[in-house]
Amino acid sequence: MKDMSMEDNRNLDLLASWIRESKYTVVLTGAGMSTESGIPDFRSKDGWWKNIDPTTVASTYALEKQYDLFRDFYIMRINTLKYCKPHFGHKILADWEKRGLVHCIATQNVDGFHQEAGSKNVYELHGNIRTVRCEDCSDDGKLEDFIMKKNCSSCGGRLRPNVVLFGESLPYDDLNSTMEAIRKADLVIVIGTSLQVYPVNQLPDLCKGKKAYINLDIDFHSKYFDLALKGKAGDTLLNIEKHLTKY
Ligand code: NAD
Ligand code: ZN
Repeated sequence: MKDMSMEDNRNLDLLASWIRESKYTVVLTGAGMSTESGIPDFRSKDGWWKNIDPTTVASTYALEKQYDLFRDFYIMRINTLKYCKPHFGHKILADWEKRGLVHCIATQNVDGFHQEAGSKNVYELHGNIRTVRCEDCSDDGKLEDFIMKKNCSSCGGRLRPNVVLFGESLPYDDLNSTMEAIRKADLVIVIGTSLQVYPVNQLPDLCKGKKAYINLDIDFHSKYFDLALKGKAGDTLLNIEKHLTKY
């Protein structure tokens, strides 16, 4: 964990005070929330799978035209989950919900870690990778069948995870509930996202209250936020928690 400067401390104190004062707080997370659990994000520079840009395989194009590659990519991602679990940052957010400090979490992550850590009000804007369906007949499928590269047991069609691919719409109810929550929020805390994926990158602007950003890289987006904290999600949440409980 890096040493705290005076400015870091002031910022942590400020965000802690906003969290205490806010009557309605929404947290919006992205892949950077889960990298400390060992799950790589999409846009950080470290080499990716088979030197392929993951955003090109997580797409309707890949599902239609390169199904074997698409399936290998998702099998690899599902297998990664077996060895990973939520970290203390996920647990702190779940605890804040119990203490009435956070009202809901909207996430772009498909790993289910917020729920596993104990958060109840979670909107999964990009779906969940732990269940599958048939692309051809829409029946539910078995995750084990997908991992074993079997086809749909009803129609023989292509199984796929219940995630939102590039080229697909977001789940209507989750998106609507998120927008409603953000519109009435006194505070939105955005954590671990490059804010490059539409429409989630538009959501923070709906907030009429305060907006805070916690990310390893804040250079591009900090001007759009009332406060931007550069750092790891888990470490920063732990530091905020210390400031919250110091009085
Ligand atoms: P992204 O890869 O575009 O951006 C991640 C951001 O998090 C980057 O700005 C990076 O600097 C930052 N970051 C990395 N590690 C961090 C840490 N420890 N603490 C704080 N910040 C950190 O990811 P995104 O914005 O979420 O892009 C969206 C797409 O990525 C979505 O479609 C999502 O479904 C998918 N995705 C999900 C998972 C997952 O479920 N865990 C993993 C990879 C990608
Ligand atoms: Zn089918």
